[in-house]
This record gives sequence, C-alpha cells and structure tokens, in this order.
Amino acid sequence: MNDILVVGSLNMDLVVRAPRFPAPGETISGEDLAIIPGGKGANQAVAAARLGAAVSMLGRVGSDVFGQSLLDNLTKNKVNTSRVRRDTAATGTATIIVDAHGQNSIVLSPGANGKVSPDDVADLPDAKILILQFEIPSETVLRAAQQAREKGMRVIVNPAPARTMDKALLESVDILVPNESELSLLTGETVTDIASAEAAARILMKQGSGMVVVTLGARGSLAVTKNERFVVPSFSVEVVDTTAAGDAFIGGLAVSLVENKLLEKALTYANACGALATTKFGAQPSLPIKDEVDEFLQKMKML
Ligand code: ADP
Repeated sequence: MNDILVVGSLNMDLVVRAPRFPAPGETISGEDLAIIPGGKGANQAVAAARLGAAVSMLGRVGSDVFGQSLLDNLTKNKVNTSRVRRDTAATGTATIIVDAHGQNSIVLSPGANGKVSPDDVADLPDAKILILQFEIPSETVLRAAQQAREKGMRVIVNPAPARTMDKALLESVDILVPNESELSLLTGETVTDIASAEAAARILMKQGSGMVVVTLGARGSLAVTKNERFVVPSFSVEVVDTTAAGDAFIGGLAVSLVENKLLEKALTYANACGALATTKFGAQPSLPIKDEVDEFLQKMKML
C-alpha cells in the first residue's frame, strides 16, 4: 500500500533570464532557457518520496514531450505514476522571465492540470495520507478529500495558491498547512505574528477544519490543535533560495505522520526539510533526501 497519495498539479517551468522585461511588441535576447519540473503537486510528491515514503501521484499531463518528461522525472524520483493520465490538453507550464534585479514575470498555463476532474478521484488508490493543493479544479479537490475521508485516509491540504475554502472542504481536512499570507487570505485577518496566526487558525478550526499547521518562514512553524498549541523554531541556515521550502516542509510533515511521530517531532523534522531546501537553488533540485535530513538533525543536536 502507498504511504502517501498526492492529487495535484504537474508543471514544466520554463525559465529565462533577461536584462529586463520586453515591452509589448518588442523582442529582446535572454540567456539559455532552463526547463525545470515543477507544480506544487509533483514537488510535494517528490519531497515525500526523497524522504523514503512510498508515494503515488494522481493528476494529468499532456500528450506532449513535456508530459513525458514530467512522468520520467517522477519515476526517477521513485514516485508511482500509474494514476497520472495523458490528456489532449497541453502539459501545464509556467513561463517565467527573470530580470536583472531578480524580479519574476510569470504566465501560468494550467493546461492538463485544469482537466483533473471529480471522476478522476472517484476511486482513489489506498494510502495512509492524501495531500492536496489548489492548482487543480476546486470541485476535484473537494471530491478527493471527501473520498479519502470515507476510506479512512488522513487529509492534508496545502491551500496554495490561496483561494477561499467553503465549509464542505474545511470539514474534510485533517491538517491544513497554509503559510502566513495564505492564512491571511483564507480568513480575511491580518497575520503578522504568532498570536495573530493562532487566532486566524482557530477561526478556520471553528469553521470545520482539523488542526492547522502554519509555516512561518524563517521563524519556523506553529501547530494549533483543539487542545494544544506550540511553536517550533526554524533552523538557522545559509539561505540561497526559498523556492519550494513549503513543499519540502509538507513532504517532511506527511512522512513524519506516516511514521507516527508525535506532532512536535514531526514539525521539527518538517522544519529541517524546509530549512535544507532553502540552502539550494531551484524547486525540485533543492528537495532534501532522507540521509541529508537525518545528518542535519544529528549535527544540530550536537551543537
Ligand atoms: P512557503 O515557501 O510556502 O511560503 P515558508 O516560507 O513558510 O513557506 O517556509 C516553509 C518552511 O521552510 C518554514 O516553516 C521553515 O521551516 C522553513 N524555512 C523557510 N524559510 C526559512 C529560512 N529563511 N530559514 C530556515 N528555515 C526556513
């Protein structure tokens, strides 16, 4: 049986650096194109698989070369792809221009991700945990969460990119994992510190959500449950690029829960995964493997 099932997006990121953004109608020259596998769903599946869990991915890619390349990449990372369908729509892409100041301009083309339908998730493969994000249609997210609950799976929802959640979905969530800006958008509350994050988390729990784990960037993470609330500080590292820190954190959290770690230990492990992801450039290339995390935690205890 799978430990973890991820239902979500697979994207190819097309990244080109240029001196500046082109004006309408203008053509300018940039550096060599980088073609990088991404999509929050695929990133989180790879994050969990690199940490040693048995992971399966459900989603859609196009029948084009990017689709094949994304499937090959998941297979290389030991993620089972038997439930990733080939669609007639194009593979999801993010076309990203980075200017000389490091600013991004992005055109997202959901393509096949937008075709992942409630029927696709009507018969979910068995797993202990389901992980969902918001880069596929909301009716599919809801159906998947409800199906998983009926099958006795634990449901983790990463509400990213942020969009409001209705009661039916909140009631199907065991663990909601927003960052501070997502938490703010979900509740309409300003989230600036731990007290405001806890208050906002409790609003979502009143509306039906299970526990809320808030990622706090360089400050670590906060868990709010019915009976307890604790903050686990982050690890101090040399930050190169924070892309995919959240995806690494979710992979680490899910794997820890599969291993039945206590929540506080799970958050420490997830913080270590997030911290390590910030020490390397890029999304999937920066996701740590199990040995790296174990070594890092051992080193930290010695300090
Ligand atoms: P997202 O990438 O989704 O915005 P965060 O920025 O909150 O999420 O990062 C997720 C997790 O990664 C944090 O909870 C923390 O554990 C770790 N992390 C992020 N930024 C840093 C940092 N600068 N130093 C150490 N750990 C970090």
